Amino acid sequence: MSLHREMNLQFNPCIKHKLIRNSARHFAETELAPIAAEIDQQRIFPRDAIDKMKALNYFGLQVPEEYGGAALDSISTAIVVEELSRVCAAVGLCVTVHNGVAVYPFLQFANATQKETYLPQLAAGDVIGAFSLTEANAGSDAGSVEMTAVKSGSDYILNGTKIFVTNGGVCDVALIFALTSLPENKLQSSVFIVESKFPGFLRGELEDLCGMRANPVSSLFFEDCRVPEANLLGKPGDGMKIGLATLDNGRIGVAAQALGIAQGAMEAAVKYARERQQFKKPIASQQTIQNYIADMATEIMAARLLLYRACELKDAGAPFGCEASMAKLYCSSVASRVTGLAVQIHGGYGYSKEYDVERYFRDAKVTEIYEGTSEIQRMVIARAILSQSMM
Ligand SMILES: Cc1cc2nc3c(=O)[nH]c(=O)nc-3n(C[C@H](O)[C@H](O)[C@H](O)COP(=O)(O)OP(=O)(O)OC[C@H]3O[C@@H](n4cnc5c(N)ncnc54)[C@H](O)[C@@H]3O)c2cc1C
Repeated sequence: MSLHREMNLQFNPCIKHKLIRNSARHFAETELAPIAAEIDQQRIFPRDAIDKMKALNYFGLQVPEEYGGAALDSISTAIVVEELSRVCAAVGLCVTVHNGVAVYPFLQFANATQKETYLPQLAAGDVIGAFSLTEANAGSDAGSVEMTAVKSGSDYILNGTKIFVTNGGVCDVALIFALTSLPENKLQSSVFIVESKFPGFLRGELEDLCGMRANPVSSLFFEDCRVPEANLLGKPGDGMKIGLATLDNGRIGVAAQALGIAQGAMEAAVKYARERQQFKKPIASQQTIQNYIADMATEIMAARLLLYRACELKDAGAPFGCEASMAKLYCSSVASRVTGLAVQIHGGYGYSKEYDVERYFRDAKVTEIYEGTSEIQRMVIARAILSQSMM
């Protein structure tokens, strides 16, 4: 019985989730596994694999069928991201950012015209989405955005620079947070649907990252970029509300990514521990290595349950922000620990590009950083707990 099947039986998944996992796993193993190391080393965005994912509806995971999406529940969505990331985290990142923070705000905040205009193309994957909040002086402090959007007739003129935009090098539509002037001259952030073909939308060089190297993360520059008023998402000044709600959802996606990376690293470590002989026997027969494997498997199971709990709450229409932060905090720390142990189990070979665990180790780290660092997740969780009335 494979490790994956054992884990599934322990979790007792429903048939639908099992089928979705099997299909995503088959795709990842046949289409991504052969290229994952090379696209990481050469920093290549895998267009062919992306095109094949369009047919599987991986760009419209939670989009309603009327717009061409797969209308999946949140656990199914997490499973797809988990399975892609188990093999190639950079592709998992592309898919989860597109679905979780670029498409999701359309589902929650767009008007009927915006939905009809953008959702079918986004769901088909013909248009790749990005979510762009971070600036040089606005990272954890998302309220410090400096980019401006000045009203000019029936348009807004956008000026400023966004950094660290996942999918930035290939996105066709980006949700851009910029300051707009409200009555009483108050400045508040608003969100704009900006097409890459709008004049004044410019891309920076791709970031030379430690991990997730096959994702074209880049800066975006806006120089007098004219955006129709019709492309304002929500109302002027809704930026913080849309940003926070979107990040709650995005954190489920990052948790799924982290879980997939941890699962892939553990499986690689178990395989290696069975094969590698030292002192004339497999290292898997050493109690210390067995302890590492037991800790990895236990933490991964706990991470999975925490993630699926956040998904269940979301699908039930209950508040899920605190649980999404818990899942993101815990899954990302598990990913870092498990990938570190996987490298350790591989010894010197684990530190070389010959083995996948070196890539998993690099890819895991950023799950503790983006969409709110672990320090920020703890702030979100503590605030939620402390604001509850005493039991
Ligand atoms: C590969 C990659 C992809 C990314 N993709 C996107 C994207 O698609 N869209 C986007 O908008 N952004 C993206 N980001 C940006 C990412 O979300 C930010 O890097 C992250 O939010 C942290 O911001 P910062 O880098 O400015 O760090 P800072 O905010 O400067 O934080 C530095 C350190 O200080 C700590 N810190 C800050 N404030 C506090 C506090 N109040 N209490 C305790 N500790 C604190 C942080 O936790 C961190 O350890 C991406 C980043 C990377 C690396």
